[in-house]
Amino acid sequence: MAATAPTISFVSLGCPKALVDSERIITKLRAEGYALTHRHEGADCVIVNTCGFLDSAKAESLEAIGTALAENGKVIVTGCMGAKPSEISDRFPAVLSITGPQAYESVVAAVHEAVPPAHDPKIDLVPPQGIKLTPRHYAYLKISEGCNNRCSFCIIPSLRGRLVSRPLPDVMREAERLVKAGVKELLVISQDTSAYGLDRRHEAVSWKGEMVETRILDLARQLGKLGAWIRLHYVYPYPHVDALVPLMAEGLILPYLDIPFQHASPAVLSAMRRPAAQEKTLARIARWRSIQPDIAIRSTFIVGFPGESDADFESLLDWMSEARLDRVGCFIYEPVGGAAANDLGLPAVPHRLAKERHARFMGHQQAISLSKHKAKVGSQVSAIIDELGPKGAIGRTRHDAPDIDGTIVLTSQKLLRVGDIVTAKVRRADAYDLYGDVV
Ligand code: SF4
Repeated sequence: MAATAPTISFVSLGCPKALVDSERIITKLRAEGYALTHRHEGADCVIVNTCGFLDSAKAESLEAIGTALAENGKVIVTGCMGAKPSEISDRFPAVLSITGPQAYESVVAAVHEAVPPAHDPKIDLVPPQGIKLTPRHYAYLKISEGCNNRCSFCIIPSLRGRLVSRPLPDVMREAERLVKAGVKELLVISQDTSAYGLDRRHEAVSWKGEMVETRILDLARQLGKLGAWIRLHYVYPYPHVDALVPLMAEGLILPYLDIPFQHASPAVLSAMRRPAAQEKTLARIARWRSIQPDIAIRSTFIVGFPGESDADFESLLDWMSEARLDRVGCFIYEPVGGAAANDLGLPAVPHRLAKERHARFMGHQQAISLSKHKAKVGSQVSAIIDELGPKGAIGRTRHDAPDIDGTIVLTSQKLLRVGDIVTAKVRRADAYDLYGDVV
């Protein structure tokens, strides 16, 4: 008789990088015969994968740990917040184990201790591509961990360490497995995608009889041969990023660049310890658009950084009017504990003013996004179907990443399935979403 599979309830918080960690832990546990459940109550233990980037994310993580303890009692904590275990153990001494990000083996060992695996070779064969938490038609592909930059507002390098890139054949094998299993879109993630391979001195390796270098350009080219949509996230604005744009023009990777610029005022950028030549950035954006006119540039910004003056903020708005970016996110600066920005001796921007700037920034960009979206009405776009519902299908164009960008709401005379890639004519547009008909 088969032993009953021990059940684990899993809470995954934070960014796509943390999601990839969760997927790895779950894949390992499923391979060992553990079952998953969405309910803490009745589970044999709970794993909480935490996020420690912003104070608001920490609060969410602490709340999730508290709930798991109240509803279950056997709780294992991992992820970014685990890098500073005392922040958790001081508040929740009953937590069974606390580990930092990427500590897959330690998490699995803690589970073994709390709930030994049921030894039955017949239970839960794991599909070769692993267990994905994202829908089957898209998957995140993590190519490296850690970051060698030292942006003054960020504590990720101290949480996750210096850059460690995965060997290129390893990444390619995972990508091939995913595509073979039906994944239509791969979202390439890391802390710093453009730095891929730097720690490996861009070593040349053999892949499918070809010598390729361990660098993002070569990796993107190889991924582009798999026949899936390839979307690059978290691209730091190094000069060599320019070489990726011709791959978009060739159709090898999606015409989409997620490149956080963070600000436009040279003074703020230099206090942030980010590349500060923003006129040059405008010239680069113009060059990218001349190579691939259909490129979507997504970026994130921080307002209310210490020392940001009215003039700095106005120059950011002017820059946004020039750059006319396609997708934009904006955060109000949070003085994360341990970030170098707290010790720069710059005056804090009052929260009310920072909120006002945030609202003005978003309103300013919304007008740009709306006019860019309106220009698409009447044109034909490719879209991948994410969901089917009573009101039609919800998809994303090549310019939209899941969760962070907009959608296209579609009507169709044809039968559609999730994961289909269709051509649609855009009928209507607002600042975030498009509406159209499958042709
Ligand atoms: S590049 Fe990103 S992860 Fe690295 S220090 Fe800057 S903000 Fe943090």
